[in-house]
Amino acid sequence: MSDFERFSAKNAAMSRAWEMDSVEKKKEKKGHHSSEPVSGICDKCKKEAMVKSYRFRQTDRTDGAASFGSVVKHLCPECAPKDKRNENAPPPPTDRQVKNLLRGALRKLR
Ligand SMILES: [Zn+2]
Repeated sequence: MSDFERFSAKNAAMSRAWEMDSVEKKKEKKGHHSSEPVSGICDKCKKEAMVKSYRFRQTDRTDGAASFGSVVKHLCPECAPKDKRNENAPPPPTDRQVKNLLRGALRKLR
C-alpha cells in the first residue's frame, strides 16, 4: 500500500466515523424531544406495554429537608396521567350503551 492509499483509507475511515457520529447525535436530539411510545415496562403497574415518558414534579422529604425535582416515569396508556384536553370529554359508553349501539347496527344490516 502506498502512502497515498494509506492516507486516503485513513481519511475515508475518519469521515465515515464522523458521519456516523453526527447521525448518532441527530438521533439523540430527536429522541430527546419526542414522546413516541416505546415498548418497555410501566413504572406504575409493572406491565410490559407501549410506554411513554412523562415528567413529574416531585417533592422529596429526606431527613426533614425537602428537595424539589422532576422525575421521568414511563407509563402505559392506562396509567398515564389524563390529558387535560380529555377531562371534559364525555365518559366512555357503558356496556349497556355499547350493546344498544351494536343492536342498532345489526338491525340496520338486516
Ligand atoms: Zn401501567
